Amino acid sequence: MSEKATPILETTGLKLHFPVRGGIFQRATNSCKAVDGVDLLINSGETLGLVGESGCGKSTLGKTIARLYKPTAGNIRFEGQEIGDLKRKELQPFRREIQMIFQDPYESLNPRQTVGGILEEPYVIHKLGTREERRKWVKELLEKVGLPESSINRFPFEFSGGQRQRIGIARALALKPKLIICDEAVSALDVSIQSQILNLLLDLQKELGLTYLFISHDLAVVKHVSDRIAIMYLGRIVETGDAETIYQKPAHPYTQALLTAIPVPDPEHIPSKQILEGDVPSPIHPPDGCPFHTRCPHVEERCRIEEPVLENAGNKEHLKSCHLNF
Ligand code: SF4
Repeated sequence: MSEKATPILETTGLKLHFPVRGGIFQRATNSCKAVDGVDLLINSGETLGLVGESGCGKSTLGKTIARLYKPTAGNIRFEGQEIGDLKRKELQPFRREIQMIFQDPYESLNPRQTVGGILEEPYVIHKLGTREERRKWVKELLEKVGLPESSINRFPFEFSGGQRQRIGIARALALKPKLIICDEAVSALDVSIQSQILNLLLDLQKELGLTYLFISHDLAVVKHVSDRIAIMYLGRIVETGDAETIYQKPAHPYTQALLTAIPVPDPEHIPSKQILEGDVPSPIHPPDGCPFHTRCPHVEERCRIEEPVLENAGNKEHLKSCHLNF
């Protein structure tokens, strides 16, 4: 890990609040606190797994880091430069450096464009290369993701889910990014195809020196690809540490509950009883005190009043926001 310890991206106090409008004048009456004060560090060349249930704000955080949304507050530093407050035109160079791969490749690929057209588009938008050069680069991209050259003239609907995700990965690679945000990139795929795509992502990381922010609701998937893991709940990071520590010594009750949900392929294994009940509370009206207190099996009186901060949970790389020690 030591050779990977150069930060490529850092967020501090990052917030993304969406206005909630109501009344006949559609005035903002409240706000949905989708991301609510996130401090996150991603080192160059590593994979940071970002995990949480649906509705915890992890996809919104990914899109905010990619600057598809403008943050409400806080900072985003990419290679030391602040990008959180850049205007559309100023963002152009960073659009090449940070790319996203989405959950549903079919929805994110234009069904009326051929694969050749889809993969050529980033070069056209950024005014790169001649037509011949762009065609050559498209063929190279297809080879990198394990698709035949003949794919160029075919349309997305002619491919399987796994092949479509390979097209999505090829498109993300087109501009030679440094950071790729994989937003539930394998969640829609069958288990056997999932592992093929995960292996492809790992091979590409080795070959191209990529950094990944790997967003998933599934800790089991994240386990196979992550160097470090951040657990998100109701717009905040509640635990972060290296992957081994998070799996072996989880320090936050939410992480512990997520881990017990991972199926163990052992008929003799007796599942632990720690099952998460209820849903993630509304980010429009988050609970006072600890955001997890409405579902936590260890809740105490102070948890309802006092919000815990992210603090050392054993070593300086392992942080948790919980009043208690387990
Ligand atoms: Fe549970 Fe209290 Fe820890 Fe929150 S602070 S996770 S409610 S024990």
